[in-house]
Amino acid sequence: MQIEKRAPTADDMDKINGYATREMKSDEVYVFSVVLCDNDLDRDFEKFSNTALDKLAELFIGKTMLSDHDTKSENQTARIFSTSVESVDGQFTRLSEPYKRVAASAYLIPTDSNKDFITEIEAGIKKEVSVGCAVSNSVCSICGKNRSCNHMRGKEYDGKICYMTLDNPTDAYECSFVAVPAQRAAGVIKHFDPQKAADPMSAITAEQVSKMIADALEKQFPPAIPEATPTDKIDWGILLSKFMEVKT
Ligand SMILES: [Zn+2]
Repeated sequence: MQIEKRAPTADDMDKINGYATREMKSDEVYVFSVVLCDNDLDRDFEKFSNTALDKLAELFIGKTMLSDHDTKSENQTARIFSTSVESVDGQFTRLSEPYKRVAASAYLIPTDSNKDFITEIEAGIKKEVSVGCAVSNSVCSICGKNRSCNHMRGKEYDGKICYMTLDNPTDAYECSFVAVPAQRAAGVIKHFDPQKAADPMSAITAEQVSKMIADALEKQFPPAIPEATPTDKIDWGILLSKFMEVKT
């Protein structure tokens, strides 16, 4: 993800002035372009769908870019004023799909307090951007289910790699510059939207819980968990209360 300074165009100035409290001139602003995210498979074996990129491009317009992951307002340094989804000729993703990325243009007003920050951008020191967003869908490449299967990301099933396609972004709330190489984990931080997510616990019936406890009592540990429930989504407190329902 590279950051590039560029000369503001008349169209840029129109958009920037939509955010500014007074009419800014082109020599008063510092404009740069940055790639926010793409449709390639990431280190978590997740990728955005192309429609997710379109939506993310929309959601990131107007968002502030922070100098780090601290969301205190004094760290707000730049504002994204336009975004676009672009492809790169001849470039393909790890899954051999045409590569697409969300590029953003951002501006800041050079002041004494962000002078060092601009110098760092130009020196290539702060060159990574880390973004955070929420998505409501994560679809398995093996079975097509939305977050309700036991397939393991990164594992092969009959020669096919398992990965998740992230779709339906609901929010884009974080965009930070990360000093490199101090933080090697720069990239896209994805969060699932708890409001939109199906609750995997609701799929477990009281009878299944009863069976699990009975199995456990017969020393069949760990208990057989219903297939549709990923083990890391088990809430043992809910299981216990379901068990109490059966007992009473
Ligand atoms: Zn699956």
